Amino acid sequence: MMTQPPIYRRAVFRLSARTLNQLPPDCGWEVAFAGRSNAGKSSALNVITGQKSLARTSKTPGRTQMINLFDLDTERRLVDLPGYGFAKVPEAVRREWGRATERYLTHRRCLRGLILLMDVRHPLTDLDLQLLDWCELRLLPSHTLLTKVDKLSRGKAGAVLQKLQNRYARSYRCATAQSFSALDGRGTEAAWSVLNDWFQLAEMPPLDRHSG
Ligand code: GDP
Repeated sequence: MMTQPPIYRRAVFRLSARTLNQLPPDCGWEVAFAGRSNAGKSSALNVITGQKSLARTSKTPGRTQMINLFDLDTERRLVDLPGYGFAKVPEAVRREWGRATERYLTHRRCLRGLILLMDVRHPLTDLDLQLLDWCELRLLPSHTLLTKVDKLSRGKAGAVLQKLQNRYARSYRCATAQSFSALDGRGTEAAWSVLNDWFQLAEMPPLDRHSG
């Protein structure tokens, strides 16, 4: 079993932003997390970073509709985008979600990839498709975590994943997918390895400062 890459455990809350110009300078690497409300975004962030309190920060009143940033090191950040698809949100709020998210996904140059959270029982909502389209426009890689796979039999969950992967192969050049469960940890290593790749951590030579 792959041990947790220490960099994710070092995630610390940096700031909440309502607009792009409140974000830190557009350099280094960012990986963003997005998903329909209740899809399991906070739980996934907690498992991936090994920090129970991390995503709670994003859920404190006043921050839920904001872009929340967590520093991993001086150049790398995790970005928690506002959840979407609350049935009861007014149309104006929904439009505002769309504008801020589209602006971030379209213009943020240090953004290396989007982790898209979808409940395995409700994949590919209209807003999920919207996010995939925005990624596609700039050829930004996206990686879907099909969450809560512990709620289905392995056969059923596997079939949903296969169907999603077929759809991506047909329609999206930069989208990949895997299963995930925050409950039993399934898929955590695969998720780390996608993040390592986007953050260019896999290619870093081992630290050997003390030799020679
Ligand atoms: P968010 O709104 O997308 O941040 O979703 P949360 O992470 O808060 O999760 C919403 C609900 O789904 C909570 O009750 C979680 O405990 C539950 N949940 C999240 N991930 C999983 C999972 O992998 N398996 C199961 N069984 N429940 C999960």
